[in-house]
Amino acid sequence: MIKSLLIANRGEIACRIIRTARTMGIRTVAVYSDADAKALHVRQADEAVHIGASPARESYLVGDKIIAAAKHTGAEAIHPGYGFLSENADFAQSVIDAGLIWVGPRPDSIRAMGLKDAAKERMIAAGVPVTPGYLGADQSPDRLAAEAEKVGYPVLIKAVAGGGGKGMRRVDVPADFADALLSCQREAESSFGNTQVLIEKYILSPRHIEVQVFGDTHGNVVHLFERDCSLQRRHQKVIEEAPAPGMDPATREAVCAAAVKAAQAVDYVGAGTIEFIADTSDREDGGSGLRADRIWFMEMNTRLQVEHPVTEEITGVDLVEWQLRVASGEPLPKRQDELSINGWAIEARLYAENPATGFLPSVGPLRHFKLPSSSRRWPVRTETGYSRGDEVTPFYDPMLAKIIATGPDRDEAVTALEHHCETVTCWPVRTNARFLASALRHPAFVAGGIDTGFLARESDILVGTEAPSEGALQAVASLIFDDDRGGSPSDIYDVGSRRDSGPWSAQAGTRLSAPSAPTRLHLSTGSSVNEIVFDPDFSGPNPWAERVDEGWLVDDFGTTFVLNPARAGGDAIVGAADGAILSPMPGRLIAVEVAAGDVVAKGQKLVTLEAMKMEHSLTAPFDGTVAELNAHPGGQVSEGALLVRIERAEG
Ligand code: ADP
Repeated sequence: MIKSLLIANRGEIACRIIRTARTMGIRTVAVYSDADAKALHVRQADEAVHIGASPARESYLVGDKIIAAAKHTGAEAIHPGYGFLSENADFAQSVIDAGLIWVGPRPDSIRAMGLKDAAKERMIAAGVPVTPGYLGADQSPDRLAAEAEKVGYPVLIKAVAGGGGKGMRRVDVPADFADALLSCQREAESSFGNTQVLIEKYILSPRHIEVQVFGDTHGNVVHLFERDCSLQRRHQKVIEEAPAPGMDPATREAVCAAAVKAAQAVDYVGAGTIEFIADTSDREDGGSGLRADRIWFMEMNTRLQVEHPVTEEITGVDLVEWQLRVASGEPLPKRQDELSINGWAIEARLYAENPATGFLPSVGPLRHFKLPSSSRRWPVRTETGYSRGDEVTPFYDPMLAKIIATGPDRDEAVTALEHHCETVTCWPVRTNARFLASALRHPAFVAGGIDTGFLARESDILVGTEAPSEGALQAVASLIFDDDRGGSPSDIYDVGSRRDSGPWSAQAGTRLSAPSAPTRLHLSTGSSVNEIVFDPDFSGPNPWAERVDEGWLVDDFGTTFVLNPARAGGDAIVGAADGAILSPMPGRLIAVEVAAGDVVAKGQKLVTLEAMKMEHSLTAPFDGTVAELNAHPGGQVSEGALLVRIERAEG
């Protein structure tokens, strides 16, 4: 067994690999870029080596630096994780040439599956069903158009070197073929330096079904059943589950056998995934549409997949452990007849992105970050490369974590995952947690068997609004009234608008107990001001809220807000009662008018922020001193970043 392992990756997958290596007594070496100097995978590894600047092409994609780091630290083996160099056959070869163990398939197997046309040819030869289409060497536009006619419209033109959803064009009618071909070839040339294309039948109502396979160096290949990854956004997987809804035993047997055949055809060693596309357009019998004669090979991923945990959960196998055993020359720990499916598992990818802004990535410090935790009723597994206080940078994939729920059956697992997505705390970085929860409770998803177009069709409904819910506002209001640091009543709410009789008479600093009658107040999220009528008898959904440094944090069923009392009218946002001045939106600081320790007067300008082509001045909410200053001119700031903290003057 190998004794030391360098992990040529970052984030959750590096942490995941470190965890298993540790249980096996293997010493771990992390590598990191500038941006990741303090990242979780660096903190967790036994040793860490700096390999370059933040952009991946200067660090995680530089094979020579990674091999040098392994040599330098005496690591015997390199695990590539997924992405980055994991499917780079030349890198795999260099690792082997350097006398190190490559935790992955042979370079030839990676190459064989690298180009889509060659991979399909090989699969046809091995007797694996492939999507009907044309793979020929004759690339003349006339021939391609004629072949498209033969395949039958709609067709998909695919660059043979394509990947990541790039270099694909759907064509519905012959008249559009020539233009689509040109544009596909142009994109293929600029992205992959290869204009070769193939033509495929465009599958209507496709489901993405993939099979986990595993080979060893003794000639054994097994499968670990299928996953369904049909819930995709722009060809990127978002929710994955195992097994596939509606898969009957005979169809499963056929698909998994085809996957084993595919792996054997390229002498596969290690963990791999055979991706299939299922044409489920014929559902006349009211079933899932999954039929063995309508499931075709699409491509092979010659690495461990992001979604491998769902397979681990239903089979009880640690796939990383198997990878390390196989790389050490051991045979597969289990035979095919020793593997079986137990229960249901489903995974959601938590991304640092804002559904409300068209899923723009959201970067910045994770001032508050808490992943769901297991309860007796709903156990959960989480995989992440972040902890509270870490920074999400714009350099890498925006995935924050994977949340994996299990259950005895699909309904239980789906319900559990929806619940867990709603308990994510993350602020000020935005996430897709609420979006995930609404997808998970959508009737079509609950029924099982959605196709890959589901998210695009339902997106508007699923995104919903970004405003705090009534329950969240009520929860925060009741906490404010219950908090002795709440500030003076006139800061808290509009005294004149109280509906009960008599003026509010408490003094600043005294405990404000909740009014006994409905009372109007304004709460600011930093970018919007929300008016509510506080209702002491509110009995609606009651999200978790708590007092934090920046204000009152509320977990609003997947969206986290930090709210602060604001003045009616809204634009002059009163700082938090404790004087925390937060950036109301992402932007750039163009002026900082105070220094730490300065005495400031109420209303005095503190900093000026440029955002959305406008300038915004943030002012002192009361007389005091600058107790904390996290602002410098020219600095980029994220929404909710703490810029200045004013300590209230005595008396
Ligand atoms: P890439 O290598 O860019 O990921 P794939 O060949 O794996 O490309 O296809 C990516 C996605 O495109 C699939 O998951 C599926 O949703 C869709 N797709 C691929 N082939 C077809 C097809 N023939 N018909 C319909 N959709 C397809």
